[in-house]
Amino acid sequence: MDQSENYSGVENVVIVGSGPAGYTAAIYAARANLQPLLITGFTSGGIPGGQLMTTTFVENFPGFPDGVLGPELMDLMKAQAVRWGTKLIESDVISIDSKSKPFKLSLLDGEIFSNAVIIATGASANRLGIINEADYWSKGISACAICDGATPQFRDAELAVVGGGDSACEEAVYLTKYGSKVHLIVRSAQLRASAAMIDRVKANDKITIHWNTSVVQAKGNDWLEKIEIINNKDKNVKEVFVKGLFYAIGHTHNTNFLGNQIDIDEKGYIKCKSGRPETSIEGIFAAGDVADAEWRQGVTAAGSGCMAALASERWLSERNLSRLITREQPEPVKSHSDNNFIEEEVTEKTFDMNSEWQKGSYALRKLYHESKKPILVIFSSPSCGPCHVLKPQLKRVISELNGKVQGIEIDIDKDQDIANQAGINGTPTVQLFKDKLLKKQWKGVKQRSEFKEAIKNLI
Ligand code: NDP
Repeated sequence: MDQSENYSGVENVVIVGSGPAGYTAAIYAARANLQPLLITGFTSGGIPGGQLMTTTFVENFPGFPDGVLGPELMDLMKAQAVRWGTKLIESDVISIDSKSKPFKLSLLDGEIFSNAVIIATGASANRLGIINEADYWSKGISACAICDGATPQFRDAELAVVGGGDSACEEAVYLTKYGSKVHLIVRSAQLRASAAMIDRVKANDKITIHWNTSVVQAKGNDWLEKIEIINNKDKNVKEVFVKGLFYAIGHTHNTNFLGNQIDIDEKGYIKCKSGRPETSIEGIFAAGDVADAEWRQGVTAAGSGCMAALASERWLSERNLSRLITREQPEPVKSHSDNNFIEEEVTEKTFDMNSEWQKGSYALRKLYHESKKPILVIFSSPSCGPCHVLKPQLKRVISELNGKVQGIEIDIDKDQDIANQAGINGTPTVQLFKDKLLKKQWKGVKQRSEFKEAIKNLI
């Protein structure tokens, strides 16, 4: 059960958000037989899966001694939540009516009623929007030094951090463990971090502060090599050779859809009872970064998701509001992660002319030359989070079109020649071909309907 087909009726608990907090809440609520409904978020507040979807290796999440790719970790959490009976809807919540009982949630495409709600919409790390940012995102540019700092490319390299708050200072100090030198780029003439943090930065001779300075653009080849910076006073422009550029310019909490209904603290986070998930509205709980001004780690988000689920379960049962499902089988069937990180490339032996989805250059060559159907090619890479969001969407489109289109995945790390020939400079890129002609190309995650419409025009 992946997608809820039933928008009607009253849910026990709706979880808004699909990061570690949301999925952990879902796992707990599902195991309490509440059959939660989780709304993943789609276009607002980042991509489904949250901030870990744009991280490479997560090395501090317990249980993964050798690290785990952020998107893979999120896939595993999703599979675990679904295995225990969580229903998923890929949509954004536009608003919540907290006065109505049950609560009314308006989605992009419908309304949902629920007795309890857990808000786990996270916060999106702010980006600078410099020239070439998208090209070097996760290829040198990152919003999380703590998560990504130990990446091999950053070892003994010069690195840069942008920002002047506690996060920037903490990250600059942290990165000196790995980099040969850290450039701290501050747009004004002062740091706004705490005094102790400033002292630490100033005492560290591996850190150079560039005052009154902004970053203009990123440059490099496959990986970031240098940044262009400008002095905001004398307008002097120069290049600094760095392999890493880390943003620490604050976060924006994904709370817009709440309007003014729930108490928010002075920094913009949802106000909860100290150390607890209850918000100012009874029956609405919060978990993860959206209510955490301080720790903001995957594991703390997961822990708070657990608390929110347990609190909502108690709250529902105290009021006799829970409608428990009865499981047909006490032991649910084993999970499957629909993104499948270890999909095999097809070979001459395993290739199937009629298969709906195959991977690799052999399949592409065969279908490109011989298929009479439209073919949809996704160019992906193993650490590309958005690719893992998009792949199951494309598979669904193909299956809904009953095999009238065929899908192929090309891993650009493995098939660099093909990626070059196709002019791919970022993942995910999707190309739609018919009769050897490129009909349409998309970059990034798009709604299923866009792909469907373009394909339907060709069949
Ligand atoms: P802050 O909002 O405190 O700081 C953001 C920094 O980014 C500011 O220096 C700001 O500059 C700069 N900035 C914002 N936009 C831009 C831009 N477009 N270009 C260049 N610079 C920009 O965020 P933090 O994440 O640092 O901290 C958030 C909260 O978390 C704070 O309360 C902090 O104290 C706390 N925290 C505490 C830590 C600790 O105690 N160990 C560690 C991390 C965070 P300007 O100053 O000019 O506005």
